[in-house]
Amino acid sequence: MTFDFIIIGAGHNGLACAAYLSKAGAKVLVLERSMQVGGGCSTVESTLPGFKHNICSVVHTHIPTSPVYRDLELERHGVRYVYPEHLRGTIFPDHKSIVMYREPERMADELSKFSARDARTFRKLVEDYGEFIDLTYLPLMYSPPLPPSTQSAELEKSEEGRTLLQWQASTPVKLLDELFESEEVKVHFLSRMTVLGFAPDQFGQGWICLFRILKAEAPICVGGSQQLALGLRRVVEAHGGVVQTGTEVKRILLRGNRAVGIELKDGTRAEATMAVVTNLEPKKSFLGLVGEEFLPASFATRVKNYHSNGRSLFVLHLALSEPPRYRAAADNPPVNLAFSQEMFGGSVAEQVRAYQEIAMGRPPRNEMLQITLPTLFDPSQAPAGKHTAVVWQYAPYRVETGGAAGWKSIREEYAAHLLDLWRSYAPNITKDKILAMTIQDPTDTEQHNDNFVNGVDVVGDMTPDQMGYFRPFAGWSSYRTPVDGLYMCGGYCHPGGGVHAGAGHNAAAAIVDDYKLKKWWG
Ligand SMILES: Cc1cc2nc3c(=O)[nH]c(=O)nc-3n(C[C@H](O)[C@H](O)[C@H](O)COP(=O)(O)OP(=O)(O)OC[C@H]3O[C@@H](n4cnc5c(N)ncnc54)[C@H](O)[C@@H]3O)c2cc1C
Repeated sequence: MTFDFIIIGAGHNGLACAAYLSKAGAKVLVLERSMQVGGGCSTVESTLPGFKHNICSVVHTHIPTSPVYRDLELERHGVRYVYPEHLRGTIFPDHKSIVMYREPERMADELSKFSARDARTFRKLVEDYGEFIDLTYLPLMYSPPLPPSTQSAELEKSEEGRTLLQWQASTPVKLLDELFESEEVKVHFLSRMTVLGFAPDQFGQGWICLFRILKAEAPICVGGSQQLALGLRRVVEAHGGVVQTGTEVKRILLRGNRAVGIELKDGTRAEATMAVVTNLEPKKSFLGLVGEEFLPASFATRVKNYHSNGRSLFVLHLALSEPPRYRAAADNPPVNLAFSQEMFGGSVAEQVRAYQEIAMGRPPRNEMLQITLPTLFDPSQAPAGKHTAVVWQYAPYRVETGGAAGWKSIREEYAAHLLDLWRSYAPNITKDKILAMTIQDPTDTEQHNDNFVNGVDVVGDMTPDQMGYFRPFAGWSSYRTPVDGLYMCGGYCHPGGGVHAGAGHNAAAAIVDDYKLKKWWG
């Protein structure tokens, strides 16, 4: 078998890269170990027939507005999104709540219930930074990362930019303390900021945090997250590409310092006349498939030091006979209609403490809960009148007693505890309303897809040393590698984990450039 390009892994990034290259006229082969394409975009009937559960990603914040959706005509290829009007509801232990809206005025009105000053601050932030975020955020995601000096030089020119540079160096908690006075408003925004795994007291995240304050969206892929991957697969195949599932790549074949093909687990070989592209996280790609002996020592050291030690998620997938009705809705009815409900306690200090507990291997007993009901907006994901719910609680990968294996002895009790916590907010979710449930502890997530090392959902910690120009490694953020003809295209590259296909898009641009193919987009 001979192809121009071989892509290892059919996560949405691998498929997006393959789709761009196929559309550029190249002969492309995508190899996927699992029987299904999608990786972190995976939808499975894991409880009862007809109940479609999104095992990993549920919401694709950036996809519908991304160049990928437009360039690859994903809507024409069957990928459709619905947009809940009420985005998220943060519910506090006293059953007061804040609902998140995409319209800034509506959002400010919601904040004014807690603090008129905070509502004014929010309006001023939108005025000062809204346009800047709109103009820069997506372009920065869908292009290779800028060197820190270029970014800083640009920002140093204005007062707003200089403020951003300081916030960049700050922590989410310090930024919130600087901006807002109401504890509820801070808790509401803090739970948004930590969604990519940042600890609340971690330095160096301010910039992205501002995006999380000012921008809100919750697009849900109709039919389940996997439909995005299936749509991308259709684009690849429509342009002559081949996607093979149930096919594990064992080795990347080298001739001298050039990647020339792959070998499968069963010994079959395929040749790549131009390049091999890997969707797999660095240790598997370079230490596993290439081999340390073929890498420059300094690069191999960087690969070994790539880290995935942040928090993980403890997940419950439920089949429900009715949706939850929150006590908070008595005061704020749209809470019941929000795409997700977030219960993170009543103070910033509790969130900081919960992260500290997680770092010590203790699954938090307090709520760090996010509940999502895709079926409120896309009824096709469950039988008529029924619902699916996903319950996320932030948790460690290794527990204090027993490490990763320790989960097996505590998961049933922990699941029951979380359901009790949830029920204290939504009393109608009694046992009889739960038709079936599957428990997915952090080790199950890794077993489902070992790209999520230690259950870290963003394919390697998104800490300042592994973001932007430093993702995955300083000097190697251009999707190229020290092996000629070997490229990187996964969430371990800029702009990082999450479903946005940024890495697949940017890798394709680098490859098209290097091989002088027709860059038909942009
Ligand atoms: C519980 C959970 C919830 C999440 N929720 C969200 C969310 O709501 N929104 C969001 O944006 N993001 C979410 N994420 C993160 C998101 O799912 C991932 O960051 C993203 O899917 C990574 O995509 P990728 O294409 O880079 O890699 P992956 O999707 O991991 O793809 C890699 C692929 O490579 C395959 N593979 C591995 N080894 C081999 C081999 N040897 N040969 C062939 N194939 C191989 C794997 O099977 C996999 O399909 C969540 C993640 C988790 C774990």
